[in-house]
Amino acid sequence: MRMSKLFVQTLREFPADAEVMSHKLLVRAGYIRKLTNGVYNYLPLMWRVLKKVENIVREEMDAAGAQELLMPFVQPAELWEESGRWDVYGKELMRLKDRHSREMCLGPTHEEVITSIAREGIRSYKQLPVNLYQIQSKFRDEIRPRFGLLRGREFIMKDAYSFDVDEQGLDKSYEIMAEAYRKIFERCGLETKMVQSDSGAIGGSVSHEFMVLVNEEAENNAGENDVFYCTKCGYSANSNHAVSVLNPAETDGKFNKAEIIDTPNTHSIEELAEFLKIPSSVICKSLIYVVDGKYVVALIRGDRTVEETKLMNVFEGNDIRIARNDEIEEIMNASGFNAIAGFIGPKGLKNVEIVADKTVTELKNFVIGCNQTDKHLVGANWSVDAELPEKIADICLVEEGDKCVDCGSSLKVTKGIEVGNIFKLGTKYSKAMNATFTDKDGQEKPFIMGCYGIGISRTAAAAVERHHDEFGIKWPEAIAPYTVIIVPVSDQDETQMKVAEDLYNKLLSAGVEVILDDRSERAGVKLKDADLIGIPYRVTVGKTIQDGLVEFKTRATNEVSTITPDEVLKKFII
Ligand code: ATP
Ligand code: MG
Repeated sequence: MRMSKLFVQTLREFPADAEVMSHKLLVRAGYIRKLTNGVYNYLPLMWRVLKKVENIVREEMDAAGAQELLMPFVQPAELWEESGRWDVYGKELMRLKDRHSREMCLGPTHEEVITSIAREGIRSYKQLPVNLYQIQSKFRDEIRPRFGLLRGREFIMKDAYSFDVDEQGLDKSYEIMAEAYRKIFERCGLETKMVQSDSGAIGGSVSHEFMVLVNEEAENNAGENDVFYCTKCGYSANSNHAVSVLNPAETDGKFNKAEIIDTPNTHSIEELAEFLKIPSSVICKSLIYVVDGKYVVALIRGDRTVEETKLMNVFEGNDIRIARNDEIEEIMNASGFNAIAGFIGPKGLKNVEIVADKTVTELKNFVIGCNQTDKHLVGANWSVDAELPEKIADICLVEEGDKCVDCGSSLKVTKGIEVGNIFKLGTKYSKAMNATFTDKDGQEKPFIMGCYGIGISRTAAAAVERHHDEFGIKWPEAIAPYTVIIVPVSDQDETQMKVAEDLYNKLLSAGVEVILDDRSERAGVKLKDADLIGIPYRVTVGKTIQDGLVEFKTRATNEVSTITPDEVLKKFII
């Protein structure tokens, strides 16, 4: 490709609306252009990268025995009604009506469609196991599209679905996919960590995410997930799923008589602990949340934080948020109290469900809200002065320094970008949609399913997050849009142009993906563009060609050597 013909416009500045490096660089280097919020044009360079990622995915999926198909982008509501997700999926699902007023949606994922395919196409255990996948655009009306391709509304995903006769079969399919994923990300030049993750309250019980770990100290914060991990035994989990043994804290308070005392203006746990001169760990915090529109009270030790996904799962919810002050007022009114936030306690509350984190069960002589503003109950004990709710669960966010449940070492935390996940679905969809096969013994059984996603566009962006410097992108070779760029310093210099053209033609005919920067630009501009675009190898043909030498630069390391054009050819042509 001649640079003078390549459809690419690099920008001098980073785009004003970009926060993270992959977004900034992909726009500035001319790979993507925003069409509307969370929706991007993939320009020719980007499309080459995406096709490379896709091909790696395709090769490894095929090698793992999966078969590619393509399902429609638009899906009918009926299937989603069958699975029960039409009403619960929420606003991420982009719903629309056709001219006959039939409800449809833009596919955010394809469990329903694939289950309908299996239901029609698979009759007997003899046809199993089978794993079907596609590489397709998805649309999710994300609440916060951001970070360019990392969290778009329209994005490209590889989604695969396995069908097995039993759990052992699923275990095997799952393991095969985990192995394929390891190979895929390695080939894409990405180091990933496979971590345990939340798999929702309903549906499957096991899932893992493949995380690209990003440096928390970097100026950007592209990693949206906190990953807790143990350096000793290898335990690692997304914060929405991580468990730990808490560091010991004081759980026995100094008040040994239960009484309600004045605690004026103590709206926060810190203010209350300070006022009473007690550690916050002997306070039982009562927090009100709204899960799928219902009020929920979460009790947790004062020094710890609620992990909202864990809490949501206790109630098998799909949506969670902290209650607003007017909602707290509503609960107070309904229960015959008038306390404000900061003084709430579980006792006497009406129309709410209560769950206690495991941490509060150990509390003795503790402090708790009593639904009277500017007062708290101190010296409380369960069963005597307060009732432990029936629901007790782990709803606690792990913190760095907590102990690993497997080996007792200290857990560490880091930020991660989820590039893929694997999920044991079990019979969630097959049962709901009545998708069955006839087993060996003649019985009709629901398929045992797994699903396996990879964000194609997110993976490419994650590669930029991991591989760049202040001058631009450093594509891993396997997914770079081109492998080599040849830059003649002066397009007016006949010798330079002749050598450059010659190298270009030889590399081209050998099948190497090469760009010749034949533009009449200043050398500085051309060299800067080459670094910005991030082509793995740059050959600069300048004055040293008088001595038969060119400059060879490896973008990954920025190492430069001076070699002959023949030596350049030898690096790429065997
Ligand atoms: P996340 O937690 O990041 O929203 P998810 O759990 O919704 O991801 P899946 O529905 O399982 O993810 O999708 C499979 C893969 O698709 C993810 O691992 C991720 O790589 C990619 N993906 C999901 N949402 C987006 C998005 N909005 N933009 C780009 N890629 C995405
Ligand atoms: Mg999501």
